[in-house]
Amino acid sequence: MANSGNSDGLKKQILNIIGKVKDDSKLRTLLIASSVCILIFVVAFASNGNSKKLGYNKFAGASQRQSVALESNSDSAEIHRALKSVSDVKESVNEVLTIDIPAYVISVDGKDLAAFITKDEAEVLLDDIIKPYIGDEEAEIADIGFEEDVKIVEKTVKPSEIQNSDEYEEILYYITKGTNETKIHEIEKGENFWVIAKKYNISVDSLLKANPEVKPERIQIGQEVSLVVPKPLLTVATKEIKEYKEYIAFETEYEDTNVLYKGDYRVKKAGKKGEREVVAEISKQNGIEVSRSILKENITEEPVTKVVLKGTKDPPPRIGTGKFSKPTSRGVITSPFGMRWGRRHTGIDIGLKTGTPVTAADGGKVIYSGYKGGYGKCIIIDHGANMKSLYAHNSSLLVKKGDKVFKGQTIAKSGNTGNSTGPHLHFEVRINDTPVNPTKYVKY
Ligand SMILES: [Zn+2]
Repeated sequence: MANSGNSDGLKKQILNIIGKVKDDSKLRTLLIASSVCILIFVVAFASNGNSKKLGYNKFAGASQRQSVALESNSDSAEIHRALKSVSDVKESVNEVLTIDIPAYVISVDGKDLAAFITKDEAEVLLDDIIKPYIGDEEAEIADIGFEEDVKIVEKTVKPSEIQNSDEYEEILYYITKGTNETKIHEIEKGENFWVIAKKYNISVDSLLKANPEVKPERIQIGQEVSLVVPKPLLTVATKEIKEYKEYIAFETEYEDTNVLYKGDYRVKKAGKKGEREVVAEISKQNGIEVSRSILKENITEEPVTKVVLKGTKDPPPRIGTGKFSKPTSRGVITSPFGMRWGRRHTGIDIGLKTGTPVTAADGGKVIYSGYKGGYGKCIIIDHGANMKSLYAHNSSLLVKKGDKVFKGQTIAKSGNTGNSTGPHLHFEVRINDTPVNPTKYVKY
């Protein structure tokens, strides 16, 4: 573009003013806007209502120049002079708008990410990227910075490359999410993260990553969740020093005993968790913990090791011996065999706390294990020689149909299931499928 001396002078003056106010982007924008307005006004006045066209698009790129078309049907010397200065102003403004201008550029690993007129703006953007990661009040931030090589570089750029202040939220979103895409889902009745993930064909893990601040178990109808998994262009690395208390898990030791059968265990000493006060350094990237090292620890309570007895005794053969033992080691008969309230009681009731081990009266094969009407959770064992035993009202069953059991093996935990008025074991002995008095076989 050719410049007259006059145009050069004007350009210098405008650049000079812009230079002075370059620390204030709003003022600069205002100044350019004012210049353009003045130009429009002068052009409108000079052209006496003739056609004019003026366009300025910062986003159109440096190759595009705005044009000012001007026609005049006046030949008066005064108008000519006016037009001359209009032309000068126009050229000067054009020059200012299209030449490279000084800017502060955020450079990431040598690549330009965003350009600003002032260093302040660039710093504010970087601060806003870091800000969400310094929120934990319980931790002291020992170090914070970017994993990437991030610099604010002073260099000249095309005006089109400068970030506008009204694009600020967009550029911040773009850098922190790695995309301009926004996809939101509003939670509907009956939905959880699993349902939503399935609906959009994404993983639950992705949905969690897209909504780090959302607690999946606390979502409510109408709440919005993001479906965009962030891939931040910048990695904010933090090192936090945190003091906290935590449990110390207890260990478990096993002791052999020939009091118990092989495969049986009994707790000799209960374990207890310990507690310690810890000072740790926690390294995070974009808020996600990547490593933790303990700087200091003070054990306030030592853990107690759990001791478990482990049986070594060979179990008896899993067949009937013909001699019964009591199905519980404790408890008394609360209701005997025989006539009761006009009906025959087909077994004995042994009052027991729920959860008491119930053992097989003799070896044999489990022929029933499950719910059985008024018997509740029930087990029947066939001991051979037409002898069977039945154990009713249990809270849990430990063997299944077809299992071979030995005499004394724990087969169930007592309870109060089925037609029962309180926790007890109903125990039956059947000979040729006819209930007989169990106290003829076991002593209570
Ligand atoms: Zn009974």
